[in-house]
Amino acid sequence: MQRFQDKVVLVTGAGSGIGRASALRIASEGGAVFCVDLNQEAVAATVATISGAGGEASAHGCDVSDEDSVNACVQACIERYGSLYALVNMAGILRFDDTGDLQTDHWQKIIDVNLTGTMLLCRAALPHLLDSGGSIVNAASTAALAGLPCGVAYSASKGGVLAMTRSIAVEYAKRGVRANCVCPGDINTDMVTGIAFPQAMDFDLMGRIQSLSGAKGPEVVAGVIAMLASEDGIHITGEDIRVEGGTLA
Ligand code: NAD
Repeated sequence: MQRFQDKVVLVTGAGSGIGRASALRIASEGGAVFCVDLNQEAVAATVATISGAGGEASAHGCDVSDEDSVNACVQACIERYGSLYALVNMAGILRFDDTGDLQTDHWQKIIDVNLTGTMLLCRAALPHLLDSGGSIVNAASTAALAGLPCGVAYSASKGGVLAMTRSIAVEYAKRGVRANCVCPGDINTDMVTGIAFPQAMDFDLMGRIQSLSGAKGPEVVAGVIAMLASEDGIHITGEDIRVEGGTLA
């Protein structure tokens, strides 16, 4: 399958996990991938893997929560490749806190990266997506759809991403730009392995975010992202697809 032949895709969070797997998948289908991450070493490694496999990719360091950094990033993508066919927003952060102990700066950081960062990329990319008739795939989460204990800030950020994506989908539908979300759950990545929990965490409550079929690797989400971003998703917009092994079925 060469669904991304002659197409340029910007992927944030491309240094790790689902973003990295998406970059690899899209490159393997012929796309030129503009790989973006705060972690420059990690994103360079993703690009080296793609190049080593004969694919086309460029690395770019960017803090998605910083407006100037985001605008320069999209500009750099256009300068490098001349167009943009799809935007895949996977950069994100997670932490667990007892709601009663949640510090405002921790709340703000999660909102800044996960929600504001996603908006900043969408806003900067939309003029170019209008030119190409392209699309956006954003990272929401099962936490946008059901309560995540001790995840108040993260859930709020992901609920915001879901609502924002639907708004963009409706606003741009007649102009040929699509916007969708994936809602992953129980995916083995650096985000979840070794994460710290509050001391009084009730782990019985965590059952609701565990898949029925066991945790999976990030490539299972990357396949869905590639479908949504490609022509195969041409009649899908404003959608959120759960990729979580039946957690919320
Ligand atoms: P990950 O930690 O493996 O990768 C996230 C990447 O985002 C990292 O490379 C990190 O450096 C980058 N990043 C963090 N802050 C950044 C910033 N300010 N600017 C630019 N890059 C930044 O995580 P993942 O599991 O691959 O998650 C990808 C997306 O999927 C996230 O938005 C996450 O919330 C969402 N998600 C993941 C799961 C899961 O089970 N892993 C479940 C639901 C949603």
